[in-house]
Amino acid sequence: MTASGHFIGNHTYQHLNEWKTPAQIYLKAILKCQQFIDAIVPASSIKLFHPSYGRLTKTQIGMLKKEYKIILCEKISGYYQPNFSFPRVLRSLYEAQAGDIVLFHDIIKCYQNVEIFLLKFLAFFSARGYTFRILNMC
Ligand SMILES: [Zn+2]
Repeated sequence: MTASGHFIGNHTYQHLNEWKTPAQIYLKAILKCQQFIDAIVPASSIKLFHPSYGRLTKTQIGMLKKEYKIILCEKISGYYQPNFSFPRVLRSLYEAQAGDIVLFHDIIKCYQNVEIFLLKFLAFFSARGYTFRILNMC
């Protein structure tokens, strides 16, 4: 993935909900994930962090921004929800605007949905002149 130009970021080891998890346990999950990443990915000067469930408290942001570039997203595609509606998710994704970061999980249990939604999403916005780029790390 890194050889293809992708960045590998930290998303916690267990996908904990940061608002419901004591700070020390949450930080340990981030550290465990980082150790895993560091063991398999060549060292990078840029460390990315995207919180599971997409949100952090101000205190957590203060602790993490010293070491990580925190990536939040404007749109979270809901195709992985147990009761998702294909048209509703597409409508939600199509409301994305230029510069938005859209989250697609690639977990095994919903991989087929990711393929369908991601291809439709890319086709929809490509047809309207949008382009897709690597995050600006500056
Ligand atoms: Zn997640």
